[in-house]
Amino acid sequence: MKTTARWIRFLLWVAVFLFFSRQGISWAQPVMYEGNQLLDELRFHQWATIRKPSVILTYPPQLADQAAVIVDEAEKTARDFQTYWGWQIEQPVHIYLFPDRASLRERFGWEPGVSASGVYYAGTIYLLNPDCWMNQTASLKENPWKWRRIFHSQGPLHHEFAHLYLDQLTRGNFPRWYTEAFAQWVEYQALGYEWKTKANNLRYHQPYSYRELDRSFDRLPNQALAYRESFLFFRYMVQTEGRKRIDRLQHMLAEGVPFADAWRQCFGRPVEQSFDQWLKQTVSG
Ligand SMILES: [Zn+2]
Repeated sequence: MKTTARWIRFLLWVAVFLFFSRQGISWAQPVMYEGNQLLDELRFHQWATIRKPSVILTYPPQLADQAAVIVDEAEKTARDFQTYWGWQIEQPVHIYLFPDRASLRERFGWEPGVSASGVYYAGTIYLLNPDCWMNQTASLKENPWKWRRIFHSQGPLHHEFAHLYLDQLTRGNFPRWYTEAFAQWVEYQALGYEWKTKANNLRYHQPYSYRELDRSFDRLPNQALAYRESFLFFRYMVQTEGRKRIDRLQHMLAEGVPFADAWRQCFGRPVEQSFDQWLKQTVSG
């Protein structure tokens, strides 16, 4: 019954959206997200579900032990966002747990070899079974506390919740580099985690320009470098301008102010200029 009601609501949304399609740009997001959720409910209707006040976790029955730990951690992460960012959760966040890399790849139609421990997409969080990326460093059965600790400190929950929070707050009003910068900074603040490799060490690699990050973030060949630059630039802005200014920026984005205008109003200069200042002190420092 509930599913039927949601279908009807979805179809109504589509009808209203089509009717007002010229003015309906900002309405596209909720329609698309609702559609994505309904399709996932159909796709994974044979899986089990755990409901908590802030999250709903759907998982294949053979992952019941992992699901119990993950839903607990996810609930805590959601509460952290309420405390630190004043996030108002309107309805519980849907999370899907995938048993292996192949099933997650199939869900997103990725090429062979593409993988991730977590994905944020259209209002929903998708997680890979942590046993796949823990590589047997901990066994949930033999050492549940170690497993939980590794999942907490190295798992993707903070990162994916950060994407979700920013997207819900601003309805997607930000460039790609910005949401990756913010998600990495949240991880860094909450867990002390930074993605550092040889491939993204600025001492050995020519940095991408702001224009490159802004225009073609996902298509840049050195993804590790693109992520690292966005994170370091964002951290520099927090350190030099303060967290309150970042909050102000994000609230302007929530009001629909275009990103470049919001940046100029918050920091008194164009974003390219802020980026070049950061790059100059990083390269010379
Ligand atoms: Zn991300």
